[in-house]
Amino acid sequence: MQADVIVVGLGAMGSAAAWQLARRGARVLGIDRHAPPHDRGSSHGLTRVTREAVGEGEAYAPLVRRSHAIWRELEAALAGDPTLPFEGPLMTRTGVLVIGPAGSNTAFVARTRAVAQVCSVPHEALTATELRRRWPQFHIDDGEAGCFEPGGGVVYPERCIAAQLAMARRAGAQLLTDEPVQAVEREGGAWRVTTARGTHHAAQVLVTAGAWLPGLAAAHGLPWARELRVLRQVLHWLKPEPGHEADFEAGRCPTFIVTRGERYEDTFYGMPLVDGSGGVKVGTEQFEHDTTPETVTRDVSAAETAALVERLVRPRLSGLSSQALRGSVCLYTMAADGRFRIGETMPGLRWVSACSGHGFKHSAALGEALAERVLQGRSAIDLTPFMD
Ligand SMILES: Cc1cc2nc3c(=O)[nH]c(=O)nc-3n(C[C@H](O)[C@H](O)[C@H](O)COP(=O)(O)OP(=O)(O)OC[C@H]3O[C@@H](n4cnc5c(N)ncnc54)[C@H](O)[C@@H]3O)c2cc1C
Repeated sequence: MQADVIVVGLGAMGSAAAWQLARRGARVLGIDRHAPPHDRGSSHGLTRVTREAVGEGEAYAPLVRRSHAIWRELEAALAGDPTLPFEGPLMTRTGVLVIGPAGSNTAFVARTRAVAQVCSVPHEALTATELRRRWPQFHIDDGEAGCFEPGGGVVYPERCIAAQLAMARRAGAQLLTDEPVQAVEREGGAWRVTTARGTHHAAQVLVTAGAWLPGLAAAHGLPWARELRVLRQVLHWLKPEPGHEADFEAGRCPTFIVTRGERYEDTFYGMPLVDGSGGVKVGTEQFEHDTTPETVTRDVSAAETAALVERLVRPRLSGLSSQALRGSVCLYTMAADGRFRIGETMPGLRWVSACSGHGFKHSAALGEALAERVLQGRSAIDLTPFMD
């Protein structure tokens, strides 16, 4: 196939971009080293938090808003067509509750509220007393406050990726799986992409390789790509204690982010019982130990779960046992300042590192905006805050 655009990596960002390019009439060749959706990268674990009041900064708000609209459109297409892979909704609105220290302008709760106000996101600012009354399963200190966004919730990453790839195929994209890309090189006025199985050419290439991007980009001398760190993160599904199941059903329990202060390791997040596993998914973040997709320890030990429960979960939540129903290891690709990075310094070659632990909720819109930039040179949503 003579492609207009080759998309390297078909996870969250790549599947979205491949679909959006193909539906606009581009001849797309998508290539992945595995068979997405898979559990080797950054887009597995059944759920991701999504919210419009993104405490990471208001530049992200248009992306998450547009992503929600795209996923709703996609859900309708899936539900109306038995030939497409419909395994359930792509998003569930559970509400998102952010809890943390009151009175600090820099704390995550305050930043979340500020974005909600600036971007007109419906939300409620809650005192400790109100938090305790509405969600008694949480232990709230007097010095804490909350921000509740009723329209937020969870998005299902594997379903989104599968759906976007199915739509891309239907729009004419050719997708190659289990085919690692080894090099992206300039050849004449175009780009040559060498894989373990052969060589492909296109005028434009979009590299959305997630945790493998630093390795692929090394040969191109991108300063920001050299600074990306890959970090092991762990997800745990905890069984509710007998008699407490209802406390964690959607409706009684929102999706939540609980912070203590500015330290990431004192923050944890979780989702109610929405993913069919029978467990409440909880996770925290670590930024101390670097890894690679090849060398990362993929098992989750009982000691890791017990440590999370003792240190963060039990002091803040009643009714969850320390028994893990399952665990999963996932990779962050972290920029030094936590921002997304989109590199467009070489003609026809774009690099996208949009993780830093908060990329999924923006991925559908980012894929669309990247497709617009590839085909028209500009996008409806401004990506310049993420460009080098
Ligand atoms: C534990 C955890 C929790 C998270 N929580 C949230 C959250 O609550 N909300 C949120 O919005 N975000 C969250 N994120 C972040 C979000 O999931 C990521 O930003 C997003 O999934 C990254 O997508 P990606 O496309 O960059 O990477 P991936 O989806 O991993 O895709 C990269 C793809 O590239 C392929 N690839 C790599 N190298 C090659 C090669 N050489 N040749 C061919 N193919 C290649 C890989 O196989 C893979 O399929 C979380 C991430 C983790 C790990």
